[in-house]
Amino acid sequence: MKHQDDLFRFLSIPGVSAQAEHAADCERVADFLVDKLRSLGFRATKHLTDIHPIVTAHSPHIEGAPTVLIYGHYDVMPVDPIAEWHSDPFCPEIRDGRIYARGASDDKGEIMCHILGAQEVIEEDGALPLNVTYLFEGEEERGSASLSAFIKTPEAQRELACDIIVVSDTGMAAPDIPSFSYGLKGLCCFELKISGPSMDLHSGIFGGAVANPITTLCEMIASTHDADNRVTVEGFYEGVSEIADWERASWARVPGASDAELAALTGVPELRTERGYTGTECAYARPTLELNGISGGYEGEGSKTVIPTHAIAKMSCRLVPGQNPIDIMKKVEAHFRRVCPPSVRMEYTMQHAGDAYLADPHSPFGKAAQKAQELTFGNPPVLVREGGSIPIVAEMSHILGKDALFLGLDLPDARIHSPNENMRVEIFEKGITMVKHMLRLMAQVKP
Ligand SMILES: [Zn+2]
Repeated sequence: MKHQDDLFRFLSIPGVSAQAEHAADCERVADFLVDKLRSLGFRATKHLTDIHPIVTAHSPHIEGAPTVLIYGHYDVMPVDPIAEWHSDPFCPEIRDGRIYARGASDDKGEIMCHILGAQEVIEEDGALPLNVTYLFEGEEERGSASLSAFIKTPEAQRELACDIIVVSDTGMAAPDIPSFSYGLKGLCCFELKISGPSMDLHSGIFGGAVANPITTLCEMIASTHDADNRVTVEGFYEGVSEIADWERASWARVPGASDAELAALTGVPELRTERGYTGTECAYARPTLELNGISGGYEGEGSKTVIPTHAIAKMSCRLVPGQNPIDIMKKVEAHFRRVCPPSVRMEYTMQHAGDAYLADPHSPFGKAAQKAQELTFGNPPVLVREGGSIPIVAEMSHILGKDALFLGLDLPDARIHSPNENMRVEIFEKGITMVKHMLRLMAQVKP
């Protein structure tokens, strides 16, 4: 395989960002990137942070040419459960046309496509036709704290000034059907605690006399949705735009995205969507309120007849453009205060939050990227939005004032975050070709 040496050296360094014993390895991955980019003539810098380094690199400046900022993360997820791997996660191996290693797809393989694409353009044409800035962080899998602080500094904002942001850290529909993603959901997380008696009570002596905190919590949670599976929190849908006709048409083309296929994939008897929307439409573009965990009372073996002191629900909302996560958390709190009966006490805690994000897929840079995908894969991309959230990219896009486009190469069977993570050799090679087309086509866009 072409470029195997570069890719395998990169994949061999175990930069697991969440585990302290790998801190020196994260530093080594950053050093590897700096050395590689300097060898291509980039001005590369390793920025030390409180946790893991950030790497930036700039191609020789061309006055008047557009600047593309390519973001990725060099850190990887832990490898557990290690016994389920068929080969050492940090000794990359090719079997049956796939490269197996932690990070093979997410996100080292994708980063490498971007670096090697630029390398091949330099080799073929003598130089890049536009300005390329790389921004690689080592904390994406643990929350991007250092990068979030970094991009708030004026120096970083000057350094990262660009015309368009490109990210390859998302999915791709099928090996011959590229995905062009132009939206991310926002997120907010919160916790609701309902307290009743000051001690667990005998359910015979006190049953029927005091409110049961678990029952009350369940009633309050049940009040957040109506029979159409719409969220009943007042003002929840304020500012939410309707899905455009072209979006509906495009999403219907996404392989495996019909309601029947989603039901089969998830193992449910049938989907339960918001009335009037398909499962895919809900996942891409409708805001949701979910219960993530619930606890309270006796959960051990056998039975124990008590009225518990309290019950807790962990909840989150996935949000769409037009919704402010802090505002939504306040609206949800107001809803719970309104429905909370006087027989219990309520505590509500706001946790972390991130904005949703939407770019214009039909911008000149968006069209250039889609053309690059079509030239590489033989089919035009499906235009999709991500159900997931990458808060750092939304933040970066807001701060830098530029769109971010997502050209993901993670196939559904790439097993990212799981044992036996892989990337097909074919996708790795096409990823490099896609980047070459992209750089050459974006060079022709007037900034
Ligand atoms: Zn990733």
